[in-house]
Amino acid sequence: MGQSFSSTLLKQELEKIFVSQQKNQQGHPATYIPELAKANRDHFSLALVTTQGEVFAFGDKEVHFTMQSTSKPFLYSLALKTKGPAFVHSKVGVEPTGEAFNSIIELEEKSHRPFNPMINSGAIATTSLIAGDSTDEKFIAIQSHFQELAGKSLELDEKVYLSEKATAHRNRAISYLMKYFNVLEEDIEETLDVYFRQCSLLVTSVDLAMMAATLANKGRQPQTGKQVLSPEEVSRTLSLMFTCGMYDSAGEWAFNVGLPAKSGVSGAVFAVVPGKFGIAGFSPNIDDKGHSYRVSEAIKEFSKILNLSIFS
Ligand code: GLU
Repeated sequence: MGQSFSSTLLKQELEKIFVSQQKNQQGHPATYIPELAKANRDHFSLALVTTQGEVFAFGDKEVHFTMQSTSKPFLYSLALKTKGPAFVHSKVGVEPTGEAFNSIIELEEKSHRPFNPMINSGAIATTSLIAGDSTDEKFIAIQSHFQELAGKSLELDEKVYLSEKATAHRNRAISYLMKYFNVLEEDIEETLDVYFRQCSLLVTSVDLAMMAATLANKGRQPQTGKQVLSPEEVSRTLSLMFTCGMYDSAGEWAFNVGLPAKSGVSGAVFAVVPGKFGIAGFSPNIDDKGHSYRVSEAIKEFSKILNLSIFS
């Protein structure tokens, strides 16, 4: 599939872009989750993991951050694994919204399903589909799935989780609406509790790039060799990342970058180059659409230089 890149080239280009983006001071940490507002604005890391399991990383690669919405594709993939596509999509659609991540207009007019699993309403709906008899069991199922994708254990940031839980009035409002329309069959507070916890799982950019590389590798974890997802589950996940992963700039991203990607308000962004590698980064300064300035610019630049668009 397409061109292959030498390790030296990938490493060199990534480093150049890291250095040039380090000067980018645009944006600010998200404030609507109070604990995220305390982020260190200087933190910046970029990582790339190939489907062979090679790792290249620059900057604050040891710094952990909460996944926030970068968890949504992985959460969706677990819902597919648990319930199958027909059931999952009776609860959540596949259409981009052109709206912000936390838009209140998140439900389709006729079916009342959330538009897609990459926005908050859709991810709250997919959370409710995860198997388990208690909130703990459901959270552990998600954490274990993410750990298999990352190939290592992942901890919860208790402070960010509690901070979001105490202030998530908008996500609560969306959930009540979904409950009213029977899209959400489970208990609202219990579902939200699991949703907030999985948003607050801690990763480094290497971990996130490793999870992305598992998607790039058709569901097989590049280092452990475990087939975590089926190729079909991966292709559904990547399709939705491509059309819906970057919220109201998904079209611009598809046009200029041409890669399935997902961002989170903690300042994390990752993208997948199918068959080749996963790339991820972290810098808490985000734009008004909720994407990290430095990391989205870095991935955009990297894609341009190496001609990575899936249509190239
Ligand atoms: N936990 C965040 C929320 O539900 C995730 C949003 C995001 O990262 O875009 O508001």
